[in-house]
Amino acid sequence: MTGLSRTAVAARVDALVGARLVSETEAPGVGVGRPPKRLEFEAGAGLVLAAAIGRSRAQFTVCDLAGRVLGADEHEQEVGLGPDDVMPLAVERLRQLLVGTGRDAADVLGIGVSIPGTVDPVAGTSLNSAIMRGWNGVPIAPYFAALSSAPVVIENDTNVIALAELDDHLTRYRDALIVKASTGLGAGIVAGGVLQHGARGAAGDIGHVKYRGASDVPCRCGETGCLEAVAGGWALVRDLAAQGRSVSHVRDVVALALEGDVAARRAIRGSGQAIGEVLAAAVTLLDPAVIVVGGDMAPAYDLLVAGLRETLYRDATTVAARDLDVLVASHGADSGARGTAVLALRRVLSPRAVDERLSLGIVGPLASAAV
Ligand SMILES: [Zn+2]
Repeated sequence: MTGLSRTAVAARVDALVGARLVSETEAPGVGVGRPPKRLEFEAGAGLVLAAAIGRSRAQFTVCDLAGRVLGADEHEQEVGLGPDDVMPLAVERLRQLLVGTGRDAADVLGIGVSIPGTVDPVAGTSLNSAIMRGWNGVPIAPYFAALSSAPVVIENDTNVIALAELDDHLTRYRDALIVKASTGLGAGIVAGGVLQHGARGAAGDIGHVKYRGASDVPCRCGETGCLEAVAGGWALVRDLAAQGRSVSHVRDVVALALEGDVAARRAIRGSGQAIGEVLAAAVTLLDPAVIVVGGDMAPAYDLLVAGLRETLYRDATTVAARDLDVLVASHGADSGARGTAVLALRRVLSPRAVDERLSLGIVGPLASAAV
């Protein structure tokens, strides 16, 4: 299938065995001749750390190389803290989780970090994000220097939900829109099976698309008239608090809605309607096969999506809306944490990273021939 000779494949396999990324076991024989070998991926050959940083909550995980969670923790924090408050705590929580797994820092091969807003993946910083004041241009990797020298990869909080779907919904769809409906709103665009970042990494900033129903309503980005200003979780909290409800987070609004509170139910459905109007334009432009909805509003999926479908199917072109599936994110509240671990794993297990690992001599004697 690869066009490589048996010798070349054997040399490469030997190198991977030497690097402890693959192990060989005897497979049951099928008759005469050389006994077959079974090759297995050694998921325990290393670890990745993941920090999914939100505006008011951070989730931390330690995973093996197959993405199995070995330790997880989360932390509720004050909204809008800067990196000097959030990152040292994140590093300390990850250190404690690592100790809890009985492994040490030398086993850590990569670290994934997701944050809200636009990121510059090359510089490893938040990028001109009005909602992440204090984070702009601050490199994230140095915070981890005392814990590990492993590479740090940074991504936006909605795009990691797309990464969390790679083994789930995205095995069946190559063109998708991922919508994160939480305190803020974000979209991830998957086209032809590839996550799209745009020219400046700012693709998918749907929360700050201008929306006719939000004209003159101030947004937290400093502008007025953004979709988020009427449909984001923070806007629902604002509106319900004004109606006398005791809510401080969008999760409180969702809990009220699920208890049957009429105003909360109406608010979430209204949010879905507004999101659907803006998404209709995106669906008409991009022709996705599926919309996947995640974020803190996803537990009220039925309400949110009922609203979303009303306006989306009304406003999108018939061709684009026909057969368009709308699904809930596969991993619920863990989507961000899981996707952030996948972010690190994709770096660690990329062909280039594996080549580097082999060339750095983290290999057995058999590997040298292949390298
Ligand atoms: Zn805005």
